[in-house]
Amino acid sequence: MTTVKAFASPSATDDLVATTIERREVGANDVLIDIKFAGICHSDIHTVKGDWGPQQYPLVPGHEIAGIVTEVGSDVTNHAVGDRVGVGCMVNSCRECVNCLAGEEQYCLKGNIGTYGAVDRDGTITQGGYSTHVVVDKDFVVRIPEGIDLDVAAPLLCAGITTFSPLNHWGAGEGKKVAVVGLGGLGHMAVKIAAAMGAEVTVLSQSLKKQEDGLRLGAQHYYATSEPETFERLAGSFNLIINTVSASIDISAYLQLLALDGALVNVGAPAEPLPVNAFALIGGRRSFAGSMIGGIRETQEMLDFCAAHKIGAEVEVISADKINEAYERVLASDVRYRFVIDTATL
Ligand SMILES: [Zn+2]
Ligand SMILES: [Zn+2]
Repeated sequence: MTTVKAFASPSATDDLVATTIERREVGANDVLIDIKFAGICHSDIHTVKGDWGPQQYPLVPGHEIAGIVTEVGSDVTNHAVGDRVGVGCMVNSCRECVNCLAGEEQYCLKGNIGTYGAVDRDGTITQGGYSTHVVVDKDFVVRIPEGIDLDVAAPLLCAGITTFSPLNHWGAGEGKKVAVVGLGGLGHMAVKIAAAMGAEVTVLSQSLKKQEDGLRLGAQHYYATSEPETFERLAGSFNLIINTVSASIDISAYLQLLALDGALVNVGAPAEPLPVNAFALIGGRRSFAGSMIGGIRETQEMLDFCAAHKIGAEVEVISADKINEAYERVLASDVRYRFVIDTATL
């Protein structure tokens, strides 16, 4: 065991505090990563506050990890000391079920092992990226290509893959009209990636407050959903809508914006069930779907795509003592568009 610095949540109600945690010894299949940057995802906040179920504390969140390999186990051939690497939302899976064998480890039938707050194979609770070092199985570590700085790469490991995967799966590209609902951490990545794929991108946001940003990030159109005429004007328009909003929205109203065979894909996860009017689906052979992060192979594909298109997240790099303030600002939607912790300040 090695003792390393970290920032942890002591309970569901306390602020996060500086602390130390133990990392396991580097096993034959493990990679030791010197973490340089860790993104702050909205999921971190939900998890530490217990919104998604009870947790064991202290809990170190963080599943947008970018760093440098400093040690590899004896059986590791796919990573070497000095490599620039990332770790996203999962650190292991069963590797035997049909979904794991298909390379979709995020949908492991036994449940993937989350990067933090999950029971690891050795029975310990996983601790995430708000830390100086992490030990991860080699198969759940991805390569960050040259050409993307590590600070803007970190958020790609969750926000990037969460939006890339449905855009990829539902064929966003030339000749396709894609709408992105919500321009936050996920939404801004969806806009950048969909535009780079060649799609015609529209942002649907509550107000026009971030319109300039949306257009700068690659959207051609920007509409306020608070204006009822938006829904009339855009009826039947889109091949694909990516809903990044985790609050409850009127799904049936958004389904009406889909063209024939269009799909509305939820990547946000509201706590409450979302009612759907079946007529909104059958009246255009439409689909209402969901998508969760991406597999390891697709995560690598996403990073290679982002490097080729010079895409990183828009980030505000903070020191560790600003984490609690950053949480408040994320909850107030006061960040453009992702906080990233400089782990040298831990
Ligand atoms: Zn996340
Ligand atoms: Zn599995």
